[in-house]
Formats: sequence, C-alpha cells, structure tokens
Amino acid sequence: MRTSSNEDWLARSQAAVWHPCTQMQHHARPGAPAYLPLVPIARGEGAWLHDFDGNRYLDGISSWWTNLFGHANPRINAALREQLETLEHVMLAGFTHQPVVELSERLSALTGGTLGHAFYASDGASATEIALKMSFHYWRNVGRPEKSEFLCLAGSYHGETVGALAVTDVAIFKDAYAPLVRAAAHVLPSPDFRLAEAGESPADVARRAAAGLENWLEQNGERTAALIVEPLVQGAAGMAMYDPEYLRLARQLCDRYEVHLICDEIAVGCGRTGTFFAHEQADIRPDLMCLSKGISGGYLPLSIVLCSDTIYAAFLDDSVARAFLHSHSYTGNPLACRAALATLDIFEQDDVIAANRAKARAIGTALAPLADHPQVRHLRQRGMIAAFDVASDDPHFSRKFYRAALDRSALIRPIGNTVYLMPPYIVGDDEIAHLAQAIEGALAAVL
Ligand SMILES: *Cc1c(COP(=O)(O)O)cnc(C)c1O
Repeated sequence: MRTSSNEDWLARSQAAVWHPCTQMQHHARPGAPAYLPLVPIARGEGAWLHDFDGNRYLDGISSWWTNLFGHANPRINAALREQLETLEHVMLAGFTHQPVVELSERLSALTGGTLGHAFYASDGASATEIALKMSFHYWRNVGRPEKSEFLCLAGSYHGETVGALAVTDVAIFKDAYAPLVRAAAHVLPSPDFRLAEAGESPADVARRAAAGLENWLEQNGERTAALIVEPLVQGAAGMAMYDPEYLRLARQLCDRYEVHLICDEIAVGCGRTGTFFAHEQADIRPDLMCLSKGISGGYLPLSIVLCSDTIYAAFLDDSVARAFLHSHSYTGNPLACRAALATLDIFEQDDVIAANRAKARAIGTALAPLADHPQVRHLRQRGMIAAFDVASDDPHFSRKFYRAALDRSALIRPIGNTVYLMPPYIVGDDEIAHLAQAIEGALAAVL
C-alpha cells in the first residue's frame, strides 16, 4: 500500500514507532496544552524539511544538533554513493580500511597531534562510556586503581545510557533510573555565566566555579579519575554558556592533581562555537575527547573518542586483560567514516570556520532586537549557537512555542524556557531572517 499524506504516516507511526524523548500520549491529543505534533517528513533539501502535505520547515536546530551542511548535501551524497559501491562495512577488529585510517589521521592532526589514536562507536552516549572506561582502566593499568571516581558539572549532559547518566545532571533524564546509576560521580558547580552575582563578569563566575573544583580535588584528587565537561556551552542545560577561563583553570588543576580532562565535544565540536573544537578557545588540549553528532555531517551514527598517546600506551602489554576490549558491531563503519571525511573536506574547501564568523554575526544582528523584549532574558551567543531565556510561568511554554514556530515554517524546539537557534552552516541571510521572524511571531503568539 502506498500512502502519501501526513495523516496516513501519522497514524502508522503512532501505531508502530516509539519515538525518543517523548511522552507518546502527547502526540495523541491535539488541542491539549501539552500536545506535541508529530510531523512526517518526506524529504530534506538544504536547511529545509518538507512534509507530505506541501509544508516545509526551516531546520533551526540542525535536527538535534547533527546537521552541518544541509539535508541531502550533494557533496556528502556523492562521497557516500562511491563508498557504497566500494565497501559498506567490515568489522574493525583485525581489519582496517581507508576511510577509518584517513579519518583518524585527520582528526589527530586537528588536535595538533596531541590526541594520537581514535576509538570508534556509533552514538554520543557510547563515546562517553568509552572515555570513562578508558580513563578508569588507564589508572588501573598504571597501578593506581584508587583513581576511580568521576567529576561532572551541574547541568551536564553526556548521554542517556546507564553509564553516561552517572555523569549527566539533568533530573528529568536521570531521576527515574537513579537506583541503576553509578554513584561514584560528583557534581561540581557550573561556570554558567547566568549565575553571575552582582558585579561578577563571566570570567569571575568561571574562577568561582574553578575554585569549587580545586576544593574538591584538594580533598579527593587521589581517588578521582577524570573530569568530564562540555566545553563552553552546556547544551541540554539550556545552552548554558561559560567563559573559556574555566577550561584553562580546569586544565591546570587536572594536571596538578593527575586527573584526566575529558572534553565532550559531541555538540560543540565541528565548528559550532567558532573554532573547530570548542576547547581551542581556551588554548588547552584534553586527554580524551568525544565527538559525534556533526562529525558525520548529520548523516550517519558515528562517534569517536580521541585519546592522548600516554593513555594509549598504558594499554600496550602482552596481557589481554590490560587491553581495551570494548567494541560495538558497527565500530568504524566505512560509510559513516566516509561521511565524516566528506564533512572535513567541506570544512577545508569552503573555509567554513571563517564563513561561519560572518553567519554568526548575521544571526546576532537578526536576534538583537529581542534584547528589548520585556520577557527575554540573557540573550547570548557563542558562534553558531544563539539562545535566550523567556520569563514565563506557563508550564507549557516550550510546547506552545514549538507549535507556533512550526506554524511559521520553522523547526525551533526550546529546552524548557530557553529558546535557541543552532542552524546548519549553509543557512543563508534570508533563512536567518526567516528564523528571526518565526521567533518574534511565535513569542507574540504564545506570551
Ligand atoms: C547529544 C549529546 C550526547 C549524547 O549523544 P547521543 O548520540 O544522543 O547518544 C552526549 N553529550 C553531549 C554534549 C550531547 O550533546
């Protein structure tokens, strides 16, 4: 049977698909305040998603922060077609292939050679788990098994598998599973600059948060394996932004107390904050780095953990027990790696980092008038992420805003009361204007 209207796909999807991060009942009750529309997408082109009824939506959040160069990008498509005809998959244990080697080499080069080996998985949460396990196992291998605890920041998000939840501090994702989650992780104060007290600059907030880290490490450094951070922007916390000073101080403290610094660049990497990696803005390098989301251009599930040569070397031994035996079936999938290589090619060929500077300015200019809106707070931006908070007591604000934006042909999905834009890098001036108008219109309709 061939069906081709939104309505058909809606019914079939609700009957058969369990959608992520969703109370499914919210899809079923149009008219209820918490109603969440389910939008069947027929195709994507550039920054636009098209449904089956002739509507289109400008993808203002890059389909959950994954898409960098538009949907159905001709250059990534061409690379994938070629790869498809060559090698779709081979297990990576005992085998290797051109895309995985080239991608590992190029990513290492992007870290200035400081992170010399790349380990592969499919999702961001797996990358978090791998980084935590690598750090823990490193300390065992070097004879310091007491270093077994992890630190994360208030509001941190590092994924939703049971291990990653241990270093995630978002109650709505974590609390239901609290008995399953490992307790050996400590939550530190966030450097989020919205927490500034009177007279404090963002750098002051960063120093205050770093003092909290220092206090903790003074007492507990001996048993701490690693600190994991989202550099510069804590996405799921509601685009909480902070000063690079925090990363500089955290790096120094991690060195002093012999603690690994894990940079989770899953959301902020790949040019999102204005540099290829966000941590570059603090002039530091992590010991371990997690990548996913944008690294495949938003095409295929791919995650990568890059590690320092020191960490890698500590696993080399005749004993299998000292090896990192972690694996996933699709580790290093050639198609996903090839999508990533095509993505890196676009960065080089189009000088994307420089082009994004102009785009980021255009986004800032388009949103600037919102600063005068009586209910807008903390209008902020870091590169290709712009956000503001809305002063509203309406518990359904985010749903109402989301629906109002869809009505205005824009996909803009607030996190709580935080409205943000995180568009694909191919977004044009007209499209930036479209997003800004959708935000203004949706605010007017909802507040
Ligand atoms: C999305 C995200 C993850 C989890 O990635 P998944 O692919 O959804 O498992 C981890 N960390 C950060 C910072 C993220 O934004």
